[in-house]
Amino acid sequence: MALALIVHGGAGTIPADRHAAASAGCRAAVEAGWRALLAGGSALDAVQVAIMALEDNPGFNAGTGAVLTLDGRAELDAGLMDGETLDVGAVAGVQRIKNPIRLARAVLASPHALLVGAGAEQFATDAGIALCDPEELVTEAQRARWRRGYREGDDVNVDPAHGGLDVGAVAAEHLHADDTKHGTVGAVAVDAQGRVVAGASTGGIGAKHPGRVGDTPLAGCGFAAERGLGGVSCTGHGEDFIRLTLARRALDLIAGGRSAQQAAEETMRLLGERVGGLGGLVLLDADGRPGFARNTPTMAYSYMLEGADAPVAGV
Ligand code: ASP
Repeated sequence: MALALIVHGGAGTIPADRHAAASAGCRAAVEAGWRALLAGGSALDAVQVAIMALEDNPGFNAGTGAVLTLDGRAELDAGLMDGETLDVGAVAGVQRIKNPIRLARAVLASPHALLVGAGAEQFATDAGIALCDPEELVTEAQRARWRRGYREGDDVNVDPAHGGLDVGAVAAEHLHADDTKHGTVGAVAVDAQGRVVAGASTGGIGAKHPGRVGDTPLAGCGFAAERGLGGVSCTGHGEDFIRLTLARRALDLIAGGRSAQQAAEETMRLLGERVGGLGGLVLLDADGRPGFARNTPTMAYSYMLEGADAPVAGV
């Protein structure tokens, strides 16, 4: 089977002076994952390696550099799915894990599919994954944004009916105008055995309510994979992706005969038309053909296909 790997670095509005860095970050992640595939690694390895590269890049909203909750902490979500076995591994609301996708992979190898919060961190310790200081995940840029944006209330919408912050409105604000948001990350790979794996990792939406979990760690919503169909990884306002189980719908469109690119575009149209949602996705069909689409101004992405000289990357 031909090898293939595609990643995204989040949908939204990436300011022009960040385009080169966002696309270079995605390209570097593809190169790292591709090396894993060439060394005989599985699609699980490639997705993990590519996403870890993006989690470690402080320019993306995952792992180090994640956006902060209303009360100023990084709460991280990640998940991945093996299309061969339909095994899922995911974690949500972790605060002391440098690479949540690594922990999600460990969950995938366990009898469980999704672990949250303190229990997930306990599982990490048992699995030999070191806990980090929560402050290690917080970059100066994100701390400054939290101080500027949320404490002073300059881009926070108050919903008087609930006596608090309208997190949905804040999220929309992020997708349209947040010049420090560089995106959730995700990856899909097909390996030499034809195994397809999809995953995603995020800090969520800025100013999210403590405990809020979006689509990213939810199979069928933020990511999905199935042998014979392909794999998909999403980014955008997670509540809307949950409403539509959007990742699964992209695979269903492939099952209905759409090409990878048609499925990507149709899924994004559906997101906008049905719930007014914003975001993007990347996917590979079962033969490793890529598709990607967004209904936001930009989405950083990169992909590499067997036989190509170098990865394609852009925003
Ligand atoms: N989907 C992520 C979430 O809602 C955010 C993003 O993709 O930008 O948590």
